[in-house]
Amino acid sequence: MKLHTGEPAWRKTLDPIPGYPALTSDTSCDCLIIGGGISGALCAYLLADQGMKTVLVDKNEVGSGSTLANTGILQYANDKTLTSFIHTFGEETAVHFYRLCKDSLNHLKELGRKLHPDLSPKERSSLYMASSDEDVSLLREEYENLRKYGFQVDWWNEEDFSGRFPFRKPGAIYTQGDAEINPFAFVHGLLEQAASKGLQIFEHTPITGWTFQSDGVMCRSGQLIVKAKHVILTTGYETQFLKREPGAYLTSTYAVATEPAAHFKDWHERCLIWETARPYLYMRTTPDGRIMAGGLDEPLSGSFLQEGREIHKGQELLGLIHEMFPEKAGLQAAYSWGAVFGETRDGLPYIGTHPNYPHCFFLEGYGGNGTVCSMLAAEMITDVLSGKPRTDMELFALTRSTKPVP
Ligand SMILES: Cc1cc2nc3c(=O)[nH]c(=O)nc-3n(C[C@H](O)[C@H](O)[C@H](O)COP(=O)(O)OP(=O)(O)OC[C@H]3O[C@@H](n4cnc5c(N)ncnc54)[C@H](O)[C@@H]3O)c2cc1C
Repeated sequence: MKLHTGEPAWRKTLDPIPGYPALTSDTSCDCLIIGGGISGALCAYLLADQGMKTVLVDKNEVGSGSTLANTGILQYANDKTLTSFIHTFGEETAVHFYRLCKDSLNHLKELGRKLHPDLSPKERSSLYMASSDEDVSLLREEYENLRKYGFQVDWWNEEDFSGRFPFRKPGAIYTQGDAEINPFAFVHGLLEQAASKGLQIFEHTPITGWTFQSDGVMCRSGQLIVKAKHVILTTGYETQFLKREPGAYLTSTYAVATEPAAHFKDWHERCLIWETARPYLYMRTTPDGRIMAGGLDEPLSGSFLQEGREIHKGQELLGLIHEMFPEKAGLQAAYSWGAVFGETRDGLPYIGTHPNYPHCFFLEGYGGNGTVCSMLAAEMITDVLSGKPRTDMELFALTRSTKPVP
């Protein structure tokens, strides 16, 4: 499946792009990771740290799937609010999930600091804005709930925008401690480190079949065999074509990155911006001074992205940037891309085992903060593989998709 169209902004930030060989002979390992995006790279990094004999394969180049389209915003707040999770799952579960996300965000920041300084996530504040007057009371309720459960947030009235932004919104939640990354460079940094600790990486090596055995899985890549005691499937949104989750669905989304701006005096703390409307518009800045914005989600046409539509949608996003930041009206789009995007109906990722796939773990981090969910999942799965029980993984069980979503 084609996961993106147009030209995502990150590929040109790495020169040269590290490359890895294709598999040329049968091999065996303790753990095979299928998929070299952010999810696979995080699992590989953690397993290499534990000294587990691990092989990672990707059918294309590592980091070239949805991870390349990712705008690199790291937030603990989810597309589905804490308030909404409380309504669906009750307070205890909802708060536990939000706390897990906050911990995973912090772990991503810690892990990034151990990589090259250029790869370390850059701390940013976030502004979650009410898109309209009607949304203020719901956003205020979210603010009260976040505070009640110990999340450090502030409330902004319309006047608080004055002097900080050239636009106003009727209310917003302001948070500190979120972050931004270059997801493509981050994946390469993780894999490089993991490879130095023994991880074997093979690109252009699709897994095309498997046989489950009592002591592991025999995976096939064409005529070649990878025998693994455990398999982690980090195949991204394409997992939907391997083992469909009725609780998940795919859409298309769009993003744009402008030419570098001269300054950000009109952008308070260069914070991460998003809003209550669904689908939402979101924005960040990049280290080389670009504005990156995303949104305008729409249904996939059949199961496919429409080639060329990213140009029109990129212009639409650019218009929204100009509307909010009139001083940036001269900036043109340097990169526009469209991409497949996955969400779940209950807002949770899918993490764990499946009765039909013995010795396998699935990591499916859906939603707008998929990277934080990938970190959460990678930690849970690698904990279990190293013999540390994670009973809270049950919350993300793959089998829950057979139950009606509340
Ligand atoms: C436009 C856009 C913006 C986004 N912005 C953000 C954001 O700001 N913050 C955030 O947290 N999340 C964001 N996301 C979500 C984020 O991109 C995803 O959660 C994340 O990239 C998923 O990573 P992954 O490693 O699971 O999948 P992928 O990056 O897609 O990696 C899966 C890999 O598996 C490989 N593969 C598949 N099948 C096989 C096979 N049979 N054999 C071998 N290899 C195989 C593929 O080639 C691919 O490289 C965004 C998504 C989009 C589309």
